[in-house]
Amino acid sequence: MQVKEGVHRLTQGVVNFYLIEEGGKLLLVDAGAPGDWDLLVRAVAALGRGLDDLEAVLLTHAHADHIGTAERARTTAGARVWVHEADAAMATGGTPPKNDGKIRSYLLRAEFYRTLFSLARRGATRIVPVRELATFADGETLELPGRPRAVHAPGHSPGSAALLLEGRRVLLTGDVLATRNPLTGRIGPQIMPSGLNSDTPQALRSLTALDGIPADVLLPGHGEPWTEGAAEALRLARAAGPS
Ligand SMILES: [Zn+2]
Repeated sequence: MQVKEGVHRLTQGVVNFYLIEEGGKLLLVDAGAPGDWDLLVRAVAALGRGLDDLEAVLLTHAHADHIGTAERARTTAGARVWVHEADAAMATGGTPPKNDGKIRSYLLRAEFYRTLFSLARRGATRIVPVRELATFADGETLELPGRPRAVHAPGHSPGSAALLLEGRRVLLTGDVLATRNPLTGRIGPQIMPSGLNSDTPQALRSLTALDGIPADVLLPGHGEPWTEGAAEALRLARAAGPS
C-alpha cells in the first residue's frame, strides 16, 4: 500500500486514491467510489489511526469514481472537502459537462466492460454530492498534510488538477495523466480517453502545466504508480495522444 514514505495507495481495481500522512494527521487525496468506504476505514486503521485523524479530503476533480466517499468522510470524520473552484458545481450535485467523445467507440473493448462493472458494483455510476465544500485555485499551496500545491490542468474536467507534494517529489496526477486507460486497457502515461473528457484537446494542452514539475513519482487516478520522472511521463503522454 505504501508507494512513497507516508504516501499510501488505496485501490480495489480501476481507480486509485491516496492517504498522505504527516505529523499524525491524514489527508485523503480523492475519495474513490462510494463502495470504497470499508477500504478507507481499514486503511486508516492499518496505519494505526482513526477517522478523527482524517483532516481533509482533497479532490483532483469531481467525477463519481473520485468523489465517492467524500461526503461520508465529511459527515463521519468531520473532514473538510476541497476541490478546484471550476468543479465545485459538479461536486455539489450540478449537471456534469458533456464529454466530447462517444462511448460507442469503446464498445468492442473488454476493458470498457471491466471498468463499467467494477465501478457500477461500487456505486460510482453517479456523483454523491458533497454538501459543504472548500475550493482552491491554480498555484495555491494548501496548509494540509503534505502541503500539496495545486496545478490546474483542465480538459478531463473543467476543474481537474494535479497536486504536488514538493517535499516528497510526488505528483498526484488525478485524471490529468493516467498510466492505464480505463476504456481501452492501454498501459503507459497518457491523457484520459475522449469518452471521459469534457475537452480532449484542452487536456492535451494542459500537460504543459506539468512541464518542469519537480517530481520523481507520479501517482495517477487510474493505473500503476510511475517512478521514472515527470518529464518522461509527459513525453510519452504527448506521443500517445488522444484515445
Ligand atoms: Zn475522472
